Amino acid sequence: MNESLIMRLDESVASRIAAGEVIERPVSAAKELIENSVDSGASDIRIILEQGGKASIVVEDDGCGIRFAEMPLALERYATSKIRDIDDLDRVRTLGYRGEALSSMAAVSRLEIRSMTREAAAGGMIRCEGGVITAHSELQAAFGTRIQIDDLFYNLPARRKFMKAPTTELKRIIQVAQDYAVANPRVRFRVTNDGKAILDIGGAASSGDVIASVWGDEGRTSFVAVTRGAYSLSMWYNGMPGARRVNVTSFVNGRRVQDATIRSAISSTGGSIYGDWIVMLTAPPEDVDVNIHPAKAEIRFRKSGPIFEMTNGAAKELLMKSGGFSRDVSIDAPAPFDPWENYVPPAINNDRKTIFPSRPESGGVTERSQSGNLSPSGALFSDEPRRRYLGQAQGGYLVFDDAKGLCLLDPHAAHERILYEEIEEAFGDKSIPSQRLVIAQPVPGAIAASVAEQREVLLQMGFAFHLPGDDGYDGEAVISALPAVRGLGRLTPVEMLRSALRGIDEESDPSKRDREVWWRWARTACRDAVKLGEVMGEREAMELFEKLERCRSPYSCPHGRPTTIFFGGEQLKNWFER
Ligand code: ADP
Ligand code: MG
Repeated sequence: MNESLIMRLDESVASRIAAGEVIERPVSAAKELIENSVDSGASDIRIILEQGGKASIVVEDDGCGIRFAEMPLALERYATSKIRDIDDLDRVRTLGYRGEALSSMAAVSRLEIRSMTREAAAGGMIRCEGGVITAHSELQAAFGTRIQIDDLFYNLPARRKFMKAPTTELKRIIQVAQDYAVANPRVRFRVTNDGKAILDIGGAASSGDVIASVWGDEGRTSFVAVTRGAYSLSMWYNGMPGARRVNVTSFVNGRRVQDATIRSAISSTGGSIYGDWIVMLTAPPEDVDVNIHPAKAEIRFRKSGPIFEMTNGAAKELLMKSGGFSRDVSIDAPAPFDPWENYVPPAINNDRKTIFPSRPESGGVTERSQSGNLSPSGALFSDEPRRRYLGQAQGGYLVFDDAKGLCLLDPHAAHERILYEEIEEAFGDKSIPSQRLVIAQPVPGAIAASVAEQREVLLQMGFAFHLPGDDGYDGEAVISALPAVRGLGRLTPVEMLRSALRGIDEESDPSKRDREVWWRWARTACRDAVKLGEVMGEREAMELFEKLERCRSPYSCPHGRPTTIFFGGEQLKNWFER
């Protein structure tokens, strides 16, 4: 008797696992509910918490409501009223569109919705426990929607254990409410916790008014607005005296996001950037790819160059206005004769590990991106200020003037390290999550047969397919989902698939097979790393450095070559005998 070692997970288990991608903790549930209320056109949103959301989260709005008959549908996965087909993704103006939030929350909590639309004579109520609908009935309700989530993760003990203290969750939820108030100034947001009123914000004429109420209006806030073609940018800066951190909150088309382009545009101004920044960018929806992150916390710009320029220019202007700008140092042209003819360089004894900015003390930005910076409160990030990109030297090395010293960086080695760690991060998880492709990709004819043959194995790796002959499917063979492994951005779905098939072919031992495939992806991705001689602009260079800093072992590439050499201020002083 050979009982199968591999079993398909029960639907209720699978949906709880999937829910974990979207709902990480109370604040992520609150964020999704708030987004839904904003999308519903509400002008008044109340957030009522118990124990910072750990025991209960209620979000009430006066928006459009949900029809009684459609309530069960709203709880289904991938059910949304916000997009109809794939082309709509290029013009989404709503915060939601994935149709995953309610179903995810329903799977891991006790959830109740009460709602009434303006047209209907009666409203409705629906209850769902651990993904199972337990009640659905008509009743009178106030116009709008009230969604209550109790006992989050009651059926996911591992997650429950990792919830932070109520005060931590509460702080983060307040931050989310504040941020949405800034982006939607006309909407009033109120938060109460354990019966106490905590926040009442918004219902104002403009974002500037809301910001003034958050930051206080003591004349320290500076503001600029810039419009370039279809892009417009509003930016606020408050360089509070004595501030030791840099907090950047950015919104793109009303969506609060983390974005490396915006961050590096600020940190590469060359000024002292300590304090709070709010960046609000409006761009044509088709220039922004919103669909790259399950919690929608990251986006990708089709063209990031102009956005960097614009943000960098505006940031410099703000620093100028607030007096925080240090003038650029100009370097004189070299003398025509060679005074260095007989120069003997002093020996370099460079202890990289002690000079490289160490993670804990630089606070914030160098936390692992997932858990630290992407957490909803983490729209705020911190950075060492005063990093300037000086350019490239000696065949392509990047040169920076950094708070920690003069830095030379090998862009190829650095990029290899970044790619490698992004992929390695996925190695750590025994099961790779799967990311649904918004546009299914055709499977090339040459490998269609192998795909059909290895389908089960590929499925376990996170791929999914629609193949001719599948129940009710009569289209061509397509890839519908991919392993969600970061760092493989440069590989196309077909390349990933090809390389997986080759790995499966090569390694017949199932226990070693996944590793073999991952290694192939890592190697293919590394081959694509930027080359030493490539010309790098300021934006790319700053982004590369920032990403490198977030690596666990930033000092060397996966092959052991150094990525960076620092000449610390002290070292330079010694050298110059100062
Ligand atoms: P998404 O927001 O991505 O569409 P959700 O799972 O968050 O997906 O919500 C599913 C659907 O439920 C929404 O598309 C919307 O039609 C409806 N809905 C959810 N919350 C509200 C609300 N507060 N007011 C009106 N409709 C809502
Ligand atoms: Mg939603």
